[in-house]
Amino acid sequence: ASVIRIRQLCKQYGAGEQQVKALRGVDLDIQQGEFVAVMGPSGSGKSTFMNLIGCLDSPSSGQIILQGEDVSQLSANALATVRNNYLGFVFQQFNLLARTSALENVMLPLLYSMLPDEQHKHRALTCLEQVGLAQRLWHMPSQLSGGQQQRVAIARALVNEPALLLADEPTGALDTQTGLEIMQIFQALNRQGKTLVLVTHEPDIAAFASRILMFRDGQLVSDQQQTPEDASD
Ligand code: ADP
Ligand code: ADP
Repeated sequence: ASVIRIRQLCKQYGAGEQQVKALRGVDLDIQQGEFVAVMGPSGSGKSTFMNLIGCLDSPSSGQIILQGEDVSQLSANALATVRNNYLGFVFQQFNLLARTSALENVMLPLLYSMLPDEQHKHRALTCLEQVGLAQRLWHMPSQLSGGQQQRVAIARALVNEPALLLADEPTGALDTQTGLEIMQIFQALNRQGKTLVLVTHEPDIAAFASRILMFRDGQLVSDQQQTPEDASD
């Protein structure tokens, strides 16, 4: 089944002389269980694309169908609900709350969920176990390494059981070895069925995906399936 269907997606910023066409008619389906890497030069439209499929912004024209629901013209409030229900986000800079333990950081998104309160801790623990951090529940972000902080951020992104996990340069702030460990986690999640879309500049990181999208000047210029490299090698 398609997690996301995109039809003639366009996004313009500004108007008149200043107008920038950031996306110029993108067509794309992403199926459940895919691991997609998004690549392309600076200014090619990658962030615009991620903001649109992440329901952080609305297209100028065209359609985004997420889990069967047309999200292209929703209000800001309705988009926030869609984000909480269907999407998880991982960023380059982790974006954890300081002075808040790993466990509490992971529990935060559940504040807005329908899950009964007494199950929040158990759900967060399960996600921290999935990323191999069950021994660091009460550590503050400042007491964790960059790789450990990113694992907390991945657990937080998973806690609402999103249909789609979006990651923007998730290894960009990490050294090579730690970045590979993070890619092992993403690959394991994908092998358990999670659908992932990840932006990266690095071919070595994109190698772990099963599909590579290449953007240029606001258009999708290449869309290739590949046999993913094994991150556990
Ligand atoms: P990438 O992520 O590949 O670097 P972006 O999606 O950030 O590309 O940018 C695509 C184009 O849209 C660029 O020309 C950029 O300058 C422009 N752009 C992006 N965001 C805005 C904005 N908020 N206002 C005006 N122009 C923008
Ligand atoms: P709510 O209004 O329900 O609190 P939020 O605005 O916090 O919703 O957004 C819900 C989700 O969207 C969160 O998981 C958050 O991480 C993500 N999000 C919100 N703002 C941004 C942003 N500027 N960039 C990336 N992700 C964001």
